[in-house]
Amino acid sequence: MMTKQEFVKKEKYLKLNDDGDFVVDYDGKLEIIDFHTHISNALPLKSVDPNKKAKKLKYLTLPSIENMDLSVPYWTKLDPNEKNKGLMSIIKFSSKGYKIFKDMINGGTYDNCFKSQRENMIKKNVVLPISTKKSDRSMEALKVAKEHPDKLVAFCSVHPHDPEMKQKIKKYKKLGAKGLKLKIAEMEMKGDWKPLIDLFKACYEVDFNVLLHTGSLINIKRENTSNLMWKLLKSSRVEIFEELLKQLPKDFKFVFGHSGIGEYKLVAEYLKKFPGSYAELSCQSAGSIKYLLEEVGHERLIFGSDWPALPQAITLSRVLIATEGNEEARKYILYKNAEKLLK
Ligand SMILES: [Zn+2]
Repeated sequence: MMTKQEFVKKEKYLKLNDDGDFVVDYDGKLEIIDFHTHISNALPLKSVDPNKKAKKLKYLTLPSIENMDLSVPYWTKLDPNEKNKGLMSIIKFSSKGYKIFKDMINGGTYDNCFKSQRENMIKKNVVLPISTKKSDRSMEALKVAKEHPDKLVAFCSVHPHDPEMKQKIKKYKKLGAKGLKLKIAEMEMKGDWKPLIDLFKACYEVDFNVLLHTGSLINIKRENTSNLMWKLLKSSRVEIFEELLKQLPKDFKFVFGHSGIGEYKLVAEYLKKFPGSYAELSCQSAGSIKYLLEEVGHERLIFGSDWPALPQAITLSRVLIATEGNEEARKYILYKNAEKLLK
């Protein structure tokens, strides 16, 4: 069985720190904004004070070293025989999701966050709150950005079914939010997309960047999956967004979070169709980032990591590989595009 140590030895731009976590291995200087991060008090389920002494992050979203394959999005080897059928698989899927959230909430504290920033040469994290219909976490994100304006920038998060949606967006804009983040499943919309389109329009009016979790895994095979499981896995698939973006002005600044994970080719297609849209690269591979670069150029690709769900160093090392010999593209992806959107 391969150890983590052996694994990083063959991976360029990656090493381990004293705690055994992945950190970037790069000799030069880099300017970096991480466009997709979270913090312990701005997530659903429960809220942990970010000033708390941190628990060490387990990065439960990452597969085990034996199952890790950095050449594919989501970095997980496909097991062609893995079955995801029946109730047990749904329960496993949901409880894994719950454990990941708990790890993010307990480990996404200031000391862990700033340590990771230092170790990976990251100047600023964009903090994305995740609100549900019942719980709005925007004020918490705004609070952390106010406490550490040199290190953190805040987005807000308003659920499309929130009765105060419009007033809230105006309010959060005034309080310094730079955009809106949403993670929503198709099932929540129950076939009626109008509230989401209205939300996008309200964001457009205040000149917000809008980042949504987009994409599904393509390393899970349809034939090995039940109908319900397939629905769960596909609930934020990229193709939903074509119809939605058609209803907005061409310069609406929409960011495809995770570049659609396994559906990055469709994201490239939509970036060509919708000139105001961007792709945020967390969990992509060097190969998929190169593909996006070739298809859409470097001015609409943005580095993001999804920390503390994933280590900042892995996507960062993928960007460094994909931009070897292309300093210009590297600068734009790591810093300049984000800086422009955050102005
Ligand atoms: Zn995220």
